[in-house]
Amino acid sequence: MRTSSPHIVIVGANFAGLAAATSFGPQDNVTVFDQSASFECLPNIHELVSGLKRSSDLQLSREKIIARSGHTFRQQKVAELLPEKHQVITDDGTPYIYDVCIVAVGGINNTYGIPGVNRWSLPFKSCADCAEIGRRLKNLAAGAQPFSIVIVGGGLEGIESLGEILRLCGRSQLMQVHLVNQAPRLISEAPEVIDRDIKSLCHAYPITFYNNTAVTQLKENKVSLSNGLELHTDLTIWTGGAAPSPFLYRSGLAAQSGQWASVKPTLQSQFNNTVFVAGDAAMVEPPLSKQGYHAIDMGSLVAQNCKRLLKGRAMQEFKPSGKPTLLSFGDVMTYLIAGQTVFASPALASMKEGVYHYIMALFDRPSHTSGIINLVQRSIRTTEKRILPSVTSLKTMLGFAHVRIL
Ligand SMILES: Cc1cc2nc3c(=O)[nH]c(=O)nc-3n(C[C@H](O)[C@H](O)[C@H](O)COP(=O)(O)OP(=O)(O)OC[C@H]3O[C@@H](n4cnc5c(N)ncnc54)[C@H](O)[C@@H]3O)c2cc1C
Repeated sequence: MRTSSPHIVIVGANFAGLAAATSFGPQDNVTVFDQSASFECLPNIHELVSGLKRSSDLQLSREKIIARSGHTFRQQKVAELLPEKHQVITDDGTPYIYDVCIVAVGGINNTYGIPGVNRWSLPFKSCADCAEIGRRLKNLAAGAQPFSIVIVGGGLEGIESLGEILRLCGRSQLMQVHLVNQAPRLISEAPEVIDRDIKSLCHAYPITFYNNTAVTQLKENKVSLSNGLELHTDLTIWTGGAAPSPFLYRSGLAAQSGQWASVKPTLQSQFNNTVFVAGDAAMVEPPLSKQGYHAIDMGSLVAQNCKRLLKGRAMQEFKPSGKPTLLSFGDVMTYLIAGQTVFASPALASMKEGVYHYIMALFDRPSHTSGIINLVQRSIRTTEKRILPSVTSLKTMLGFAHVRIL
């Protein structure tokens, strides 16, 4: 399978992998592997819980994006990476020889090994996961019986899922929500004021928060907590964050099982110079939060470094850019977190919507006709659902003028 020009293999085609693939030109010989057909805009998957967006609003065809850059997409899982043989092997046993490999496999659902998590809770990691949560939530809300929802995790994903649950059924008299958080406060990596603000906004809703509390076991309709309580549940949402993919250790890219892949400042693997690691899978020094914008920047840089390596030129080091975080809390509030400063206003939801359109347009380039049509259709469809209900509500219109600095 060796061809005359160097063969570049990319494993994983979401934020980092696609950013890398689209940074190579048609003259480069690039093959991209991912087991699923569609790019997914993960920062917005919580919006599937309330039905604000549909899965198709958040997905793009990997085949089309990669073909447009002049490369080959193979919808296959890479089962093995053998750096010493310069080879990847797909799960059907086909070997592919590479000159340089880019690993962008992201992470997996972190269950912390707690019994019952895989069986009795729904993860929060893909469009399919969140669409299923939305489907079950709608069924519960349509019934005449009281129902209980347990969200495990008080980080960004946990709060964004809670916000969407309130958007859909915040007025329900039958719903009770429990949010279990192992950390001492909500969004523990952000300034403390957010914890206080969210809890004060939640006084109006049937929500109980359990901070400093771990889940010890999940059973059918039951969540056991470290404080001895047992919660009845009709829907358990697991937002425990991401853990390293076992693929990294298996491929010799992590020093130990359960670790992310250690990389040099050039994003080359610490253990092999012809393997680059980009996105969530990479463990840079000092450690970085696992964010889509870092993954995109890393993906672009590894493509440039890959070309430099093949031409024998000096490579560049990864310098993370500092960007603020936008945290959506349904139609109740949106927060902009910039270092220790936090801005709060429902109007900031339009900024989050802008970031979503930017990401989708980045991969579905509006420079070709179908990209422009998709961009316009996506904008109309999603703006109609998100912005119009806000501007037709007097309360929210007044809120638009009011941005609080917490
Ligand atoms: C609910 C949620 C909300 C988020 N909100 C934000 C936010 O507001 N802002 C922000 O910046 N970031 C946010 N993030 C984080 C952001 O989505 C990640 O940082 C980003 O997706 C990382 O990109 P990646 O390409 O490294 O990995 P991923 O996006 O996880 O992609 C990895 C890809 O690799 C593929 N893959 C894995 N193993 C293999 C294999 N063996 N063979 C072939 N393919 C493989 C997978 O199918 C997947 O497509 C959020 C994440 C989640 C889950």
